[in-house]
Amino acid sequence: MSNMYKKLSAHGSINIPVAVRRDLGLEGRDPMELTVEGGEIRIRAYTPRCVFCGTPDGVKLFRGKGICPACAGAVSGMEG
Ligand SMILES: [Zn+2]
Repeated sequence: MSNMYKKLSAHGSINIPVAVRRDLGLEGRDPMELTVEGGEIRIRAYTPRCVFCGTPDGVKLFRGKGICPACAGAVSGMEG
């Protein structure tokens, strides 16, 4: 977790840095979920995408990152 300082646009938008979008597998126009609690705003992907191939199909979170069944299979095949 790192702190970043961003300004809201005149219309109330906030820009998520490209490095963060890449790291989390986010693409433009992806739906996001906002949670407001205790004076804080938490933003997260409504539909997680696979960090390796970008598909949203069948993605499960593994250690906070999205991974699809095909990529999970390929990764597990790397053992040994
Ligand atoms: Zn994948």
